[in-house]
Amino acid sequence: MNRLDRDPEPSEPPAATNGDRRGGTEDALRRTEEECEQLTASVEQLEARLDHQARHDPLTGLPNRAVFLELLAGTLEHAAASTIAVMFLDLDNFKVVNDSLGHDAGDRLLVAVARRLEHRLRDGDVVARFGDDEFTMLCRGLTEPSEAADLAERLLATLATPFAVGGEQVFLSASIGLAIPNSADEPAELIMRDADLALYWAKQRGKARVECTSDVMRARVEERLALEQELRRALREEQFAVYYQPMVRLDGRRAVAFEALVRWNHPERGLLPPSEFLAVAEANGLVAQLGAWVITQVCRQIALWKELAVSDHDPVVSINLSARQLLHTGFVDEVAASIKEAGIASRNLCLEITESVMLEDTVSVIERLEGLRDLGIELTVDDFGTGYSSLGYLKRLPVSSVKVDCSFVNGLGRDADDSAIVAAVVSMAHALGLRVVAEGVETAEQIVELEALGCDLAQGNYFAKPQLANVVTSLLRHPLQWRRMPAA
Ligand code: C2E
Ligand code: CA
Ligand code: CA
Repeated sequence: MNRLDRDPEPSEPPAATNGDRRGGTEDALRRTEEECEQLTASVEQLEARLDHQARHDPLTGLPNRAVFLELLAGTLEHAAASTIAVMFLDLDNFKVVNDSLGHDAGDRLLVAVARRLEHRLRDGDVVARFGDDEFTMLCRGLTEPSEAADLAERLLATLATPFAVGGEQVFLSASIGLAIPNSADEPAELIMRDADLALYWAKQRGKARVECTSDVMRARVEERLALEQELRRALREEQFAVYYQPMVRLDGRRAVAFEALVRWNHPERGLLPPSEFLAVAEANGLVAQLGAWVITQVCRQIALWKELAVSDHDPVVSINLSARQLLHTGFVDEVAASIKEAGIASRNLCLEITESVMLEDTVSVIERLEGLRDLGIELTVDDFGTGYSSLGYLKRLPVSSVKVDCSFVNGLGRDADDSAIVAAVVSMAHALGLRVVAEGVETAEQIVELEALGCDLAQGNYFAKPQLANVVTSLLRHPLQWRRMPAA
């Protein structure tokens, strides 16, 4: 097709009057002005959109971290400190939801959380998305600080109602750290740090709770953080030691096994028992590293005892496991590697698990326990009777013995209830083909009763306190000496 045919251009401008010409120019000007206005409006819109994007979280539409800090600083300039509170909220175990339901569901959940928080706050309060599953709230116009704590509790309650995501009901909980500034000239960063510390404390104290900053809390958190640092260093510098406490067969009174108990040779505070550091190691995950170190040391020690040919039978050593260790995918392989590296037999090892492992009653944990059993390692249920004792899981788990908790052993010979409990545990365990170890045995009377009840093994200060490996070496060489051993 010919372009000229389709859109012929006039060879001459059309004839026009003066008036027409002026009118045409004005029209053109008006059109240009309108176009300019439209353009300005859309530039403004674009700017506003960009500004909104820069200041808001794209997922939830809430103000972001920068805006929140700006608002807090602005509020501090104008309001009395006592009328302001800052909350730091973090969803508990959100990673689990994300991992199990997928990121899309995780995103939808975050949006739903944002809406519930917004809905629950009062007029004038601000909620912002601070990070992944972290939200911050600024409460203004408080008449007294306790109002903020009440509001925080209400926020937790509002999140406790299950969320419907992807056709599933999802249960969530959250922890809140609450900070109330001491004075209006306190910098925003300091208040945020306080709220963050309070949140850390809420998590440490079991999650799903509100904690408010106080001097006591600050001191405790700082102490705990320092202990955490020291623990990391202690692991690097191997400041730990393994002590061994004999388990004695009641028929024959021979030490046939030992429980490995970790101690920390603290450079300033001396020898520390697990009660001084294990909870912190559990809380921050260092317990897995510590546990792996204990397993390696024990395997090497068993190899050394073998090499020294200290006894006719290879000693069996029982090691305490933290539930966290069993959550590691490669745990069974790590244990197998330690056994192999030391060149010992797996029947020399026994692993003690507590009933809390049952809370992690997932297929993978059971599979790992079966993997350990298949390696030839014995498993024992520790502190039996203090947790969720149920025959069901004893049948389900590949365990070969139970350790009756010392709180029941303690009352033997004095408290009829304790005797009845121990008797029941012994007969039940025997019916399932399991051995029974009594722990924390301190008196001859307890031994007499345990023998009468048919308990298989006993462990406790009555025989020996936990000992260093070299003391155990001589105990293995001269088995009859154990009853006369001096206290450690
Ligand atoms: P547990 O497994 O119940 O260990 C027995 C505890 O009772 C030990 O405390 C032991 O020293 C103490 N004990 C032994 N005989 C007696 C007695 O006659 N009377 C009394 N009152 N107590 C006695 P310890 O060594 O302080 O360990 C405390 C807990 O720390 C252990 O309790 C265990 O749960 C944990 N633990 C120890 N070592 C490790 C480890 O290497 N890894 C892990 N994950 N936990 C460990
Ligand atoms: Ca134990
Ligand atoms: Ca125990």
